[in-house]
Amino acid sequence: HAKAKGRGTACLFEPAMDETAEIRRAIERDLADALRQGLFEVHYQPLVNLGSNRITGVEALVRWRHPERGLISPATFIPVAEETGLIVALGEWVLNQACRDAVAWPEGISVAVNVSAVQLRNRTFAQTVLLALAASGLRADRLELEITESVLLDETEANLETLHLLRRTGIRISMDDFGTGYSSLTYLRRFPFDKMKIDRSFVQDAGKATEAGAIIRALVALGGSLGITTLVEGVETEEQLAAVRAEGCQEMQGFLFSRPRPAGEITAMLAAAREEAVAA
Ligand code: C2E
Ligand code: MG
Ligand code: MG
Ligand code: MG
Repeated sequence: HAKAKGRGTACLFEPAMDETAEIRRAIERDLADALRQGLFEVHYQPLVNLGSNRITGVEALVRWRHPERGLISPATFIPVAEETGLIVALGEWVLNQACRDAVAWPEGISVAVNVSAVQLRNRTFAQTVLLALAASGLRADRLELEITESVLLDETEANLETLHLLRRTGIRISMDDFGTGYSSLTYLRRFPFDKMKIDRSFVQDAGKATEAGAIIRALVALGGSLGITTLVEGVETEEQLAAVRAEGCQEMQGFLFSRPRPAGEITAMLAAAREEAVAA
């Protein structure tokens, strides 16, 4: 699709195309080298249950530790990895690392891994996931896969089939960035998601008397009637937390509770939380 478009415009914008292609090749090479050299890291951000105030799981978020440029955000390199196809290898690495890290954490803690449309489209995806579980010894019901609507936009039938297959093994499926796409509601009808992650754009003004609060309230009600857990992403202030609570949302994730942290820090955080719970 994108390739055909690129080819069609190549004759019109040849010099720029060449330059872009060159830059892309350089980034592609850098990403592949970084993967081989072990320069990627997985950080984890806690997901918190608003009823118990306890960590129920973590989301795995990949970072690139660049020798000169420091820690690079996935927002910068994931789109490139998707375009070049390297996301398949990178995603597999993240999945395996996340399962290996999570198996050392308490039984009640699950790990959520982001899955790009390019990965899911790959025929071997389900096998890759099941192998990661088998290799690490992580139970299927401790793994969540986060997908966005773009995952379901094309080749819907094949993608839905893969998701159904994975879900039957006990893996849970979350719809990420809910509310930012065009057909969220259609997908809710077509696929039984376990969790709806309400995009952080809705939480930004949640404390104020704006539409955002009303939308969160409506989504929580919708989730409730469909038996889908609702989580609000990007909670940064006490005011937002109070608003999210008031709307009846079940889980939250955000800088207010914790930023994404390296695995070792999560291990310590979970141990401290456990001691606190024992002492209480
Ligand atoms: P996402 O899956 O929606 O992940 C949540 C993002 O929101 C993370 O950004 C997280 O650090 C950020 N965040 C969490 N709480 C707050 C908050 O209170 N305030 C603000 N401003 N941001 C908050 P991050 O780590 O930069 O990741 C960006 C995106 O990159 C992710 O969005 C996801 O779409 C993608 N991504 C990250 N890791 C992977 C991966 O392993 N595979 C794939 N395919 N995509 C990934
Ligand atoms: Mg996510
Ligand atoms: Mg998200
Ligand atoms: Mg997001």
